[in-house]
Amino acid sequence: MPSRRPVHYIVGVDVGGTNIVAGTVAQDGSEIVGVVSEPTASEQGADAVVDRLIRLARASMTQAQGKEIAGVGIGSPGPLDTKTGVVLLTPNLGWVNMPLRDRVATALGLPATLDNDANCAIFGEWWRGAARGVEHVVGLTIGTGIGGGIVLHGDIYRGASDIAGEIGHMTIDSTGRRCKCGNYGCLEAYASGPAIAARAVEGVEAGADTSLPRYVGGNLPLITAQVVYEAAHDGDEYALEVVRDTAKFLGAGVANIINIFNPQVVVICGGVTLAGDKLFVPLRSEVKRRAFKPAVEVCRIVPGELPGTAGVWGAAAVFIRRTWGRV
Ligand SMILES: [Zn+2]
Repeated sequence: MPSRRPVHYIVGVDVGGTNIVAGTVAQDGSEIVGVVSEPTASEQGADAVVDRLIRLARASMTQAQGKEIAGVGIGSPGPLDTKTGVVLLTPNLGWVNMPLRDRVATALGLPATLDNDANCAIFGEWWRGAARGVEHVVGLTIGTGIGGGIVLHGDIYRGASDIAGEIGHMTIDSTGRRCKCGNYGCLEAYASGPAIAARAVEGVEAGADTSLPRYVGGNLPLITAQVVYEAAHDGDEYALEVVRDTAKFLGAGVANIINIFNPQVVVICGGVTLAGDKLFVPLRSEVKRRAFKPAVEVCRIVPGELPGTAGVWGAAAVFIRRTWGRV
């Protein structure tokens, strides 16, 4: 009998602002097992989040009993240093110069890698999701903020100091809305979940004819992007206009991406994809209106296919790439 090398497994951990998700991924990409998740609960402090992350990784490994675990890939909000494995500053999680990679590696007794959470999500979509089988992909993760990832020639492009891919902070209006990053007119200030809600509320307060307040019992601060999509699906004209405006802002950003990177796929991940064709149809036509034709013609603009686990797949893929040279 010829002996067959066992398939290695890698634990992927995706640290988000709301949830931490861990899963155990086969090196050949054939399966993910032991997917577990818990609220991040960052209000309990910086160390509590690290401990929770380690506990979840262990829980995933326990569910994946019998698999040979080769290491851990971690995706975390940044900015961070992929070479030293240190998260520099994440106000939401309370981490300052947190040596996350080494703390996890020591606790689990396994080698580990660290990369940006959005890079991981887009790498995951490239490896096993909506952008499978192509060389050049740029992606956005739209939630409370807008993250981005760039995959060129089948590998994450990180730039000179791991900042590349901050697509949410591209300026789309030089004198526009203030962004959390301190700049004005960033894409994130128009098209993140909270920004979509804020634009909707502003219009309601200015007297727009809409049923939106009824969805929240008249309590306008309860309007979220989700509520806007729901009203749009129900045919509310004003909510539809907010979604169309969102498509225009995103379209400007995606047109920039397409002209600069000429990717085969732009993948859009996160809750915003719930708006479906109401978002994607006007988005694609806005991009077509703005970007170079030969670039638009080769590019698919699609929603992500791995909601909830893209970051886990991608974090594991980063480990695989670092360890074995190819995914
Ligand atoms: Zn910004």
